[in-house]
Amino acid sequence: MALISFDNVSKRYPSGQEALSNVSFTLREGEMAFLTGHSGAGKSTLLRMIMLMERPSQGQLVVGDQNLSRLPRRELPYHRRRIGVVFQNHQLLFDRSVFDNVVLPLQICGYDTEDASRRVRAALNKVGLLDKERLNPISLSSGEQQRVGIARAIVHKPQVLLADEPTGNLDPQLSEEIMKLFQQFNRVGTTVLIASHDLGLIERMRHRTLVLRNGRLIADGRG
Ligand code: ADP
Ligand code: ADP
Repeated sequence: MALISFDNVSKRYPSGQEALSNVSFTLREGEMAFLTGHSGAGKSTLLRMIMLMERPSQGQLVVGDQNLSRLPRRELPYHRRRIGVVFQNHQLLFDRSVFDNVVLPLQICGYDTEDASRRVRAALNKVGLLDKERLNPISLSSGEQQRVGIARAIVHKPQVLLADEPTGNLDPQLSEEIMKLFQQFNRVGTTVLIASHDLGLIERMRHRTLVLRNGRLIADGRG
């Protein structure tokens, strides 16, 4: 079943820049795919559209049973809860502990404290950082910081996990470890879409790869 479906989607920013042109593809529930292309090709724009941080200028974008062009404003928080996002610079808060960073999405969703604690520990356990929950993330290595970012993205059990250059600041070995974590979440049913320009890494992972060039989808196949 298609979970994410782009049908002739174009995006023109108010500046006039056309970031995506007539992009069509579907991502099935439980699938894992990479999104690649040069800097400025439109990768971040495509991910931001799935989160509805940007709206299509033309075309239809459907996530689950929601046509995002017609999503009422009041439904936006529910839509966002289905999605977890990992950023390149992980966007952790350095004024609080690892635990308090990961619990944030649950606090926003209104989980009670006990349930939230249990879920945070489960998430930290999955990324191998249970013993660091009380530390400030600033004292962690960059690979560990990225794993905290991943725990925060999956703590609310999202249906879809999106990542924008999640290994951009990591060496090859750490990058591979991070990718294995994504595969691990994919194996238990999470649909995963990762934007990356690390072609060597993408090839080694052997997943479906969507290639953007100047906003157009020019290839879609096995890496
Ligand atoms: P990538 O993630 O592949 O580097 P982006 O989606 O960030 O590509 O950018 C695609 C194109 O759209 C680029 O030309 C970029 O400068 C432009 N762009 C991205 N965000 C905005 C924005 N908020 N306003 C105007 N232009 C933008
Ligand atoms: P990436 O590292 O994914 O290529 P960008 O540098 O394209 O990221 O974008 C970083 C931020 O700057 C985004 O929030 C994007 O909306 C904004 N942005 C990118 N290009 C432009 C642009 N030409 N005009 C205005 N905002 C932009």
